Amino acid sequence: MPDSNPCADLFDKPLASPFLRAVHATPVRPYYRPLQARDGEAVVDGRKVVMAGCNDYLGLATDPRVTAAAATALRTYGTSCSGARTLNGTLPLHGELEAAVADFLGTEDAAVVTTGFQANLALAALFGTGDAVFSDAANHASLIDAIRLGAAHRVRYRHADPAHLERLLAEADPAAAKAVVTDGMFSMDGALAPLPALTAAARRHGARTLVDGAHDIGLLGPTGRGAAELLGVHGQVDLFTGTFSKCFGSTGGFLAGPAHVITYLRYAARAILFSASMPPAALAAAMSALEISIDEPWRRHRVLSLAARLRGHLAGLGYDTGPAPAAALPSGPVIAVRTGDAADCVRLWQRLLDAGVFTNPVGPPAVPEGSTIIRVTLQATHTDAHADRIAEAFATARRASSVPVTPAVLARPRQAPAPETVR
Ligand code: PMP
Repeated sequence: MPDSNPCADLFDKPLASPFLRAVHATPVRPYYRPLQARDGEAVVDGRKVVMAGCNDYLGLATDPRVTAAAATALRTYGTSCSGARTLNGTLPLHGELEAAVADFLGTEDAAVVTTGFQANLALAALFGTGDAVFSDAANHASLIDAIRLGAAHRVRYRHADPAHLERLLAEADPAAAKAVVTDGMFSMDGALAPLPALTAAARRHGARTLVDGAHDIGLLGPTGRGAAELLGVHGQVDLFTGTFSKCFGSTGGFLAGPAHVITYLRYAARAILFSASMPPAALAAAMSALEISIDEPWRRHRVLSLAARLRGHLAGLGYDTGPAPAAALPSGPVIAVRTGDAADCVRLWQRLLDAGVFTNPVGPPAVPEGSTIIRVTLQATHTDAHADRIAEAFATARRASSVPVTPAVLARPRQAPAPETVR
């Protein structure tokens, strides 16, 4: 973070993250790689590889029906609304998508915003002086930033630990308005939040439960409403946030909940008020993808079964993919393969790419200090052959682990700034 990274001239900031400094000390350059992805494959440096590092879980971002809807909206309305919703940036499509999201999630109302990050930042308007927000230690950066932006007291509970949350809630000022905030499915390791215990603890202490369903809404549960539906507590969640950039083939975000809260946020959340609205093509793409995701449940079944199979393969090869999902719960489409230090992590990433598979190497702050992972994601549009090629690439990398990576494969991408976070 900037405050832990002082220097005499603010243009002389060194890379703040020890992880990124360690990556830059190797010849591997995994970030900001230009690539073009479609149907479970990608072209990287002119070479076709299997795409195992994309959040388009249902494979809808390049679906012809979704791109046709986006193209029609683009031709009809232009590229941008050139303004915020409040004054001059509202199209009929905004209201239609909001109604569709609210209908899908069974909430009174929903607001769509330009990114999922902003949907979470908008929550800051709820977090006032004297309030207390209880946040899972592994929550997404945008939830953390929303709490920082608000004036409420922030209390972090241990990752996915309802007993710790309960203790902290019990110690809090009984008069404070309280919220428990958590990802539904955690972005980096694909683990589910223990929502039944979290919502029960929240209710016992008069706290609202706010769930970011960015990775699970559209994917999990009998009707795809997300982790809360899967775990049988959809009705216990007070407010959902989410994104159109993962299951819904587009870009944009949403908040869904009681009508009076959504109305309040529409007028109070600076992330909504002071930013241009979701653009026409993104709106139409999201609407089309939402409809397809509802009509074609095979997509979520397919990606979950591919993930379960690959997780088994990787474990069989001796990779540490973390704790297995609890019995009767699906294996999400995100598989986090634990790696060693930063150099080990990017070396494995490069070997997988050499073997024809693109993955995501991730270090702090996106995962806890001292850990690194290769994040593997599956898509409904992956074929069995794609899944086999991912497993084979990991097998090849395993065999090559004592062989240094050849300099020929370490082509540098065009110079680009280093990310603050790799999420
Ligand atoms: N929440 C979570 C849990 C996420 O993983 C992300 C994206 N990585 C976001 C919110 C932000 O969504 P968007 O990319 O649409 O801004």
